Amino acid sequence: MLQFRWLKTVQWKVVVIYILLILMAMQFIGAYFAREVERYYTNNFSETLNTQATLLATNLERYLRTGKEGKDQLSDEVKKDIDVLIDNMVKLNSANANVQLIDQNGTVISTTEGDRSIIGQRTSQMEVTIALLGTRNESLRIDPRTGHRVKVLVVPIKGDNIIYGAVYMVASMEKMYTTIRKIINILATGTVIALLFTAVLGFVLARTITIPVKEMTKQAKAVAKGDFKSGVRVYSEDEIGQLGIAFNHMTTRLREAILQQEEEREKLAGILSNMSDGVIAANRSGQIILMNRSAEEMLQIKMTDVLAQGKTLYSVLRLPPEEEMPLFAESDPLIIEIMLENREVVILRVTFTPLQQDSGKKGGIIAVIQDVTEELRLDQQRREFVANVSHELRTPLTTIKSYVEALLDGVKEDPQLSNQFLRVTMAETERMIRLVNDLLQLSRFDSQGLKLNVRHVDIAQLLRYAADRFSMQSEQQGVTVTLDIPKKLPIVSADPDAINQVLDNLLSNAVKYTPEGGSIHLRAKAETKANRVKITVSDTGIGIPSRDLKRIFERFYRVDKARSRSQGGTGLGLAIARELVRAHGTDIEITSEWNEGTTVTFWIPMAEGGTG
Ligand code: ADP
Repeated sequence: MLQFRWLKTVQWKVVVIYILLILMAMQFIGAYFAREVERYYTNNFSETLNTQATLLATNLERYLRTGKEGKDQLSDEVKKDIDVLIDNMVKLNSANANVQLIDQNGTVISTTEGDRSIIGQRTSQMEVTIALLGTRNESLRIDPRTGHRVKVLVVPIKGDNIIYGAVYMVASMEKMYTTIRKIINILATGTVIALLFTAVLGFVLARTITIPVKEMTKQAKAVAKGDFKSGVRVYSEDEIGQLGIAFNHMTTRLREAILQQEEEREKLAGILSNMSDGVIAANRSGQIILMNRSAEEMLQIKMTDVLAQGKTLYSVLRLPPEEEMPLFAESDPLIIEIMLENREVVILRVTFTPLQQDSGKKGGIIAVIQDVTEELRLDQQRREFVANVSHELRTPLTTIKSYVEALLDGVKEDPQLSNQFLRVTMAETERMIRLVNDLLQLSRFDSQGLKLNVRHVDIAQLLRYAADRFSMQSEQQGVTVTLDIPKKLPIVSADPDAINQVLDNLLSNAVKYTPEGGSIHLRAKAETKANRVKITVSDTGIGIPSRDLKRIFERFYRVDKARSRSQGGTGLGLAIARELVRAHGTDIEITSEWNEGTTVTFWIPMAEGGTG
């Protein structure tokens, strides 16, 4: 079947249609023409034969009448004359007929046939019998010897109502039919030539249609593949030319539309990828079809993996499947907690927006995800903070109240005891003042931001002062404070008050949490490459368990609340220190070993070109 594919082309269809049309037309024309030609020739043939026979009969009537007068038989002379007459007549004529002259008894008197033996014989042919009765008649026959069609015409010879005999003529029609066949052959040859011409012409004409159509098909395929570069050639101004112009116009419009669509898509992709909210789009069955970068980061998965594994929105968000949870009807955001692959727990707020198709059927679904872990954590911290503050204030107030009550109840009578009670009250009041001051400072940081008074500072001098400040206090506790700094330390760019406070907080902690016999080291080192000075406060104190280290800089976070409180701590020292250090654009770190000691390190930026 494959090898006849070309027959299915328009070009060949046009050729076949042309050929069929011509064939059909020629069929009708041929049939009509052949019939007419045949009729014309047969009529002509019959007429010629009739005329000849009539002429012969008229001429021969005289011979037969005069030749027979008074005699039974025609004389040989008359017979000869008759032979000559018939011969001449027949020769003159084109019908090429054989003629017999038959007398009224049915006996052949003369014949033009080569075989003259029939002369004198009686003929019993039907036509002759009828003619001898006075009626001319003719018939068509097949000559048994040659197999040709022949026409037999018998005309009576009569005069004055007496029948003298009959002229019997038999003429072959084969010549006539040969002529007709020749004419029809000419017609058939003409038809074949016309068909060939038509085929060639049809082929050429069809090409004028098919070539532009083929070009348009090629171009349409190219357009489908996204190649809009070239247009089709317009060959003419006819309908096909108009189609070409329309096609080119359509290509241009399509290109514009696609470019516009691409621009829109890029815009949308840009918006999606730069959104801080995560966006996941899923199809009707919940299968994910798109995820933006934020969603990938929040869920710690790659869109390519999700698409490759055909994951659903429900599985990615660890939700029950759709049947159990008809999300499409959901409109309120969901708060969900997910444990990521790195075991980190995140809290997400997910808003589902179902997409509806124009027909009203449910389309896909868009999930907008916000990572609210930090938000909720801060919220939690804030709540904890308020609770902590209340608790921290209530404890000293309760202590003060009970001591004052005791004094009022009579303890004041005992000067030694009342002195001791008043000292405790004083210490608690001071702690409360410290706490309120620390809180005020932190709240100032939070509300107004930390305003530093940065200038060039001789850090070595600051460190020396700090060590001096604490050595007295620590000596009383049996703890040594050592200052270990290089001779030359660069000038730093910092707020000296802030740095002093950081050092105070760190050193007071070191003193607080180092038992008797321990030591505290205050060190400094220039890190020229990083353009900063590293300061460490290390002690040989009680240390901090590693699980607490992560949260130790949080406000009010303390390892041992009772111990801290008894030491006069507020739980805010490290939080304040971190705020102050970070305000300098650097950081603070803590390392510690339980029962071995603690090291707090922080950095201060060097002043530009400052060397100390
Ligand atoms: P506090 O006023 O309670 O000392 P901080 O914020 O200064 O509050 O410190 C928080 C907690 O960190 C302390 O309660 C204590 O448990 C722990 N800590 C801080 N510094 C040290 C240190 N040098 N050695 C051991 N524990 C420390």
